[in-house]
Amino acid sequence: MAIKKILTAPDPLLKTISKPVEKVDDEIRKLMDDMLETMYDAPGIGLAAVQVGVPLRVIVMDISWNKEDGIKEPKYFVNPVISNKSKDLSTYEEGCLSVPDQYAEIERPEKCVINYLDYDGKEKQEEVEGLFATCIQHEMDHLEGILFIDHLSKLKKNLIVKKLVKSKKQSSKERIVA
Ligand code: ZN
Repeated sequence: MAIKKILTAPDPLLKTISKPVEKVDDEIRKLMDDMLETMYDAPGIGLAAVQVGVPLRVIVMDISWNKEDGIKEPKYFVNPVISNKSKDLSTYEEGCLSVPDQYAEIERPEKCVINYLDYDGKEKQEEVEGLFATCIQHEMDHLEGILFIDHLSKLKKNLIVKKLVKSKKQSSKERIVA
């Protein structure tokens, strides 16, 4: 396994629409292993392949993981499709590994159904709600080239992007000094 570099906004690759996976083979499993290790290292609770520069419809998630107990319950989603979004909405404060240190309250359907292929390529269907539903919808957005800040007003979004560009410049400056 290997830790990959996570792309951050406004990297243009984050805006691409990810392509379906043709077959869940060892190459895809290696990608998922690397993504999971990258996600735990970051740390985050979800990661889409495009965030590590691979525009394929692959997501890893672990909403239960915390560093104290160390128990991991990783979930793998290949070619996920969401349906039956509930009319009821829920609001979570969201962040994103590709939008470092920025958080905003986002409203999304509280429940939904996901169809996907698992780590072994088996077809699965699950009805999810709460944090799970929010997280999978956040990750599904990545597959369509959408970031959580795209759900905000233009003004708020531009403010965040400006901050990110500024912090990127600063960090590259620091690197030159070091
Ligand atoms: Zn994200």
